[in-house]
Amino acid sequence: MRLLEDRIRKDGVVKEGNVLKVDSFLNHQMDIDLFNEMGKEFKRLFSEKKINKILTIEASGIGIACIVAQHFNVPVVFAKKAKSINLDGEMLTTKIQSFTHNKVYDVIVSKKFLSSDDHVLIIDDFLANGCALLGLIDLVESAGATVEGIGIAIEKGFQSGGQMIREKGIQLESLAIVESMDAKTGSIEFR
Ligand code: 5GP
Repeated sequence: MRLLEDRIRKDGVVKEGNVLKVDSFLNHQMDIDLFNEMGKEFKRLFSEKKINKILTIEASGIGIACIVAQHFNVPVVFAKKAKSINLDGEMLTTKIQSFTHNKVYDVIVSKKFLSSDDHVLIIDDFLANGCALLGLIDLVESAGATVEGIGIAIEKGFQSGGQMIREKGIQLESLAIVESMDAKTGSIEFR
């Protein structure tokens, strides 16, 4: 998506450790007009799919997912990072290794909000090694629901997550795929 690539070139900052900072428009301050264009594009890309729910993970996925959901007219459920799990059987749970914080989170969704009737579009801001997506897919599958597709704002194509998810046969659409980036020069190349 050209609009997003241009914005990343203009306002993205490449940090050491393969981290791309986009906090001025994507995951701290949020450019809602840009999100709206992203929503339109996801709607076009997944137009063949019958989607009745969007699933994301707190925190950075929520803003994008909410604007995208307006184009699908469906509710958004976000997986919560839990400090402790109350194993009362009412929650679906999984574990996710965080790329940016280098720690493992327990992640939960109430069984009330994800069930075998659901056809789910998963939305997130970044795809790196794919740990967040594996966790979200695990939650959907343990609910007996169906993953119809995955929409990502920025995929870092030089990390392994994209290939791993595509090999599962899931429709994965990333609006910008960073092929390479360099913290020293600040350069960013797109696929
Ligand atoms: P993964 O689980 O695919 O390794 O990493 C995805 C998650 O880590 C995303 O939900 C995102 O919050 C965070 N993340 C991964 N790479 C980056 C990055 O380069 N920049 C930012 N801002 N977040 C990232």
